[in-house]
Amino acid sequence: MTDPGEDDAPASSARPERPELILAGRAWVRGRLQPVEIAIDGNGRIASVGKVRTGGPRRDVGDAVILPAATDLHVHLREPGGSPEAETIATGTVEAALGGVTLVGEMPNTRPAVTDADRLEEKARLVTGRAAVDVLLYASPGEPRALPRLARAAGAFKLYLSPTTEIEEVPVPEEVPKLLSRLAELGLPLTVHAEDPTRFLPGATPGSPAEWNAARPPSAENSALDRLLPPPPGLRLHVAHVTSARAAARLRAAGVSFEATPHHLFLSDRSGSDARFKVNPPLRSEADRRELWAAFRRGEVPCLASDHAPHARTAKELPFSAAPSGMPGVETMLPLAFARVRAGELELATLVAAACDRPARWFGQPLGRIAPGHRANLLIVDFRARSRLAAGRLHAPCGWTAFEGWEAIFPREHYRDGERIVAEGEYVGRPTGTVVRPEFAPGASALDRYRT
Ligand SMILES: [Zn+2]
Repeated sequence: MTDPGEDDAPASSARPERPELILAGRAWVRGRLQPVEIAIDGNGRIASVGKVRTGGPRRDVGDAVILPAATDLHVHLREPGGSPEAETIATGTVEAALGGVTLVGEMPNTRPAVTDADRLEEKARLVTGRAAVDVLLYASPGEPRALPRLARAAGAFKLYLSPTTEIEEVPVPEEVPKLLSRLAELGLPLTVHAEDPTRFLPGATPGSPAEWNAARPPSAENSALDRLLPPPPGLRLHVAHVTSARAAARLRAAGVSFEATPHHLFLSDRSGSDARFKVNPPLRSEADRRELWAAFRRGEVPCLASDHAPHARTAKELPFSAAPSGMPGVETMLPLAFARVRAGELELATLVAAACDRPARWFGQPLGRIAPGHRANLLIVDFRARSRLAAGRLHAPCGWTAFEGWEAIFPREHYRDGERIVAEGEYVGRPTGTVVRPEFAPGASALDRYRT
């Protein structure tokens, strides 16, 4: 299929069937909040959006607003081979649903890492019947002979330029251009973890987030970009968790997609001293953080992604130098951002584009817009319903958050294919999430609008 976002006409010209449900209220349509009625068909797709729809049961959302649900390009659900005290596909996708995320991109560095089609199938089997939302599976490009089969089965590739859990072997710099050209031929989107390990401080045993930042400095990110830019023609390149405004500006100038995480936007290397604040790439200085947040607010960061990477509390209670890197975030990403919108610090347009629209197009999914032909994966959000984050009220098995006490606004309801999976802030769905693959190459809209 083609990108339905390229054409706002109804998907079919046949006589519209009786809608299964009509949602009425102020909704995010064509770039602004406006009073509309949204007719949802029996397949859970948006049939039409307009003034008054008739023929089906009608729900008015009152003072709340209707937004497209989000796509999170970057999560680690720790299966297979992880600790259930940290996360599982079942628990992580429920957190996603509660946080307003309707599709997650699951990273390949599990145990074992997803480096061939058999391992990909094994992970897909763990999704079926257990996931609350849809899952797109990343694969790690290792063995060249495994690549063609892997490209037909996976949703996207993830390339690490520095070693990570289960993926210790990374390409030497001279190999990178050849590998990128090969991946361009295969056509799948490619996300890169861009840190150059030769720029890491050798032999350091960092004891705090600030020392961790010094040990894996921003120059490692810039050096990794030197290897990636300019990308070979045809490569759908996306850079994960960008931590500096400088890197963001370089990627923007090159027309390359990228994401920033809530922790790099909201936390600095002085926000906390314990290992909860240990992530890769590290939290940066307050000055760097402010610059990145300013770029995000100006709409110069195309995507928001959580890099949800929970670890059991016991692992994070180890001495800083021995503790693993990563923090949970899929449940709190949108709620933290909604609170910034409510506080007047962030335009809703900027947030919807970065969290809902562009990530969905990047994955080639008919999601992220309230428009005919798109799936009716929608959120009902009451911006007056502010709360304070508390680990005890979140749903991650790890039981901690680096955002304890932060202001948040959770979606009141989450519809998936026109069916409610969150009601009054509680998960009420069934594990009907499926594995999805790109349905279309992103149209011109995916990046062009962010360039302007
Ligand atoms: Zn990650």
